[in-house]
Amino acid sequence: MSKRSSSQRSPQHRKHKTQTTPTPLQQPSQDQSQLSQNRLQQSPENELWRQRQWVKLFSEVTFKIRQSLQLKEILRATVTEVQRLLHADRVLIYQVLPDGSGKTISEAVLPAYPAILDLEFPEEAFPQEYQQLYAMGRVRAIADVHDPTAGLSDCLIAFIDQLQIKAKLIVPILQNLNAHTHSQPIAQNQLWGLLIVHHCDRPHQWMEFELELMQQLADQISIALAQAQLLEHLEEVVAVRTAELKDLNHNLQQEINDRMQAEAALRKSEEQLRLITNALPVLIAYVDDRQQYRFNNQAYCDWLGRSPGEIYQSHLQAVWGEDCYQRMQPHVEAALSGQIVTYENEIALKDHSCRPVSVTYIPHFNEHSTVIGFFALASDISDHKAIERMKDEFIAVVSHELRTPLTSLHSALKILTTGQLGVLSADGQQLLEIADENAERLVHLVNNVLDLQRIEAGEVKMEKQACDAAALMMQATDAMQLMAQQHRIKLVVQPVAIQLWVDADYIVQALTNLLSNAIKFSPPGGTVWLAVAVQSSKAQGFKATPCEAHASEALFQVRDEGQGIPFDKLERIFERFHQVDSSDSRKKGGTGLGLAICREIIEQHDGKIWAESRMSQGSTFFFTLPL
Ligand code: ADP
Repeated sequence: MSKRSSSQRSPQHRKHKTQTTPTPLQQPSQDQSQLSQNRLQQSPENELWRQRQWVKLFSEVTFKIRQSLQLKEILRATVTEVQRLLHADRVLIYQVLPDGSGKTISEAVLPAYPAILDLEFPEEAFPQEYQQLYAMGRVRAIADVHDPTAGLSDCLIAFIDQLQIKAKLIVPILQNLNAHTHSQPIAQNQLWGLLIVHHCDRPHQWMEFELELMQQLADQISIALAQAQLLEHLEEVVAVRTAELKDLNHNLQQEINDRMQAEAALRKSEEQLRLITNALPVLIAYVDDRQQYRFNNQAYCDWLGRSPGEIYQSHLQAVWGEDCYQRMQPHVEAALSGQIVTYENEIALKDHSCRPVSVTYIPHFNEHSTVIGFFALASDISDHKAIERMKDEFIAVVSHELRTPLTSLHSALKILTTGQLGVLSADGQQLLEIADENAERLVHLVNNVLDLQRIEAGEVKMEKQACDAAALMMQATDAMQLMAQQHRIKLVVQPVAIQLWVDADYIVQALTNLLSNAIKFSPPGGTVWLAVAVQSSKAQGFKATPCEAHASEALFQVRDEGQGIPFDKLERIFERFHQVDSSDSRKKGGTGLGLAICREIIEQHDGKIWAESRMSQGSTFFFTLPL
């Protein structure tokens, strides 16, 4: 591209070059003095027009500069706009680097002239002393570089000629060192760079407004520098903060992943738990302290014919119905008071058949040892019950068949032992007595089995009548007096006259059974007590049903100082043939049926029977009879 001639310039440019009257510089320096000769008188109209133009152009340039926060863009806009405004041939920004060297970092140049963008200059090209002058605000306007009064050295003129520079204007760009710190009250300026304007086609007399404009623009660049510095600082802060946020985000993501993994593991273990509990043919549930289901396995739905939604969060009563709930309620309350409970119940299935179940409740404690619910397990014991029934029937049949021949055997042996039918040798007599004793035990056992079976089958009708508790107690003690003497046991009875409505024979049978055990299991020289008292059925140890809650009852107790019964056997000894020590039947002569018979008798009277004991200290058997 060829160099643009002055005739190609815009009319405005020409007007400036030819018509604009130069205004003198306020304080002409040695460099600026060249301009003073251009100071001409001008008309007020011209001056006004020029000022308006100047303000307009300045605000345009400032606006363009301020449009960006990016320094590079600002500098590019500056050089472009200045070149356009001043119709200069080259405008550039020279940055002074920390080591004293420099570089043109922005340039707007007409195509006709050589570009010097990115050209680097050694420190010698712009020595420190000059830098200091500019740092103090020096402005240099040279109308004609070849004019000897300009004072340029020959080598500099040679270099300037290479760039075809005829006139130049140099304005410093200062940087406030404390731009983004508020700690320093006094601003410190340092030379950041130079804003340089070249005319290349001919010398140029610099006008005062051009100098002012350039200085103002250099100030704007300074402000932009401060802003860029601030931006850089902000960007650093943002970068640090972004890195922190990234870290935080990473950690959060990690936490989320961990949680998701934990949740997945939990879900898997829950699925496995559900799979296991659903596969088991037992009822498994968790019930909260409001007696509502919080978990139940599939067997609940299968057995009861209910959907999971009908069970989950439903109350026990709603699931099981009034009758069944009545039976389970005391046990539920016991579990919610912190006890492990095992009992038998009968539940109605979806086909309205009944199924016997063995139920266990295990309380669930929170970290403050408060019961917050219980785990419930119920298993079908139909088979067990059927076998028991068959066993009972078998025993009953066998016992029944044995009773008649045994009774006749026992009678015959009894007669033989009297010697009425002949006297045997001493050994023969001893053998006979052993045989008689064993026959008696067998008769006793068979009678007990048959008694129990008849009572359980409801074949025995309790002939209830008004009786005095004191009389029953005396009758039982009298019956046991001989046995007590034989065992050297002291029998202490505290009879109280309480009116009862009972079958006297059976109550005496229960009392003698308990007394007989107390004597059997006490050491010689011990004492056995028999006492009775009236109490409210709410009293400790009695598991009252709601309808009985306010009734009174007689509480009998038989206490001994014997060997005691282990805690885990206190319930089981009431089962048939159950003995704490299986050799007891041989040593103490029992059958393991006495307590089972007692329980049947007491329950037929709507009473309860239980035992309390401390090993080596003795046992107490309690039973209640409603008044
Ligand atoms: P048995 O005929 O064996 O006494 P029971 O049914 O009356 O049968 O008693 C069952 C078991 O209970 C006894 O064998 C014994 O182990 C235990 N037992 C009953 N009463 C007492 C007691 N007072 N002291 C210690 N153990 C007892």
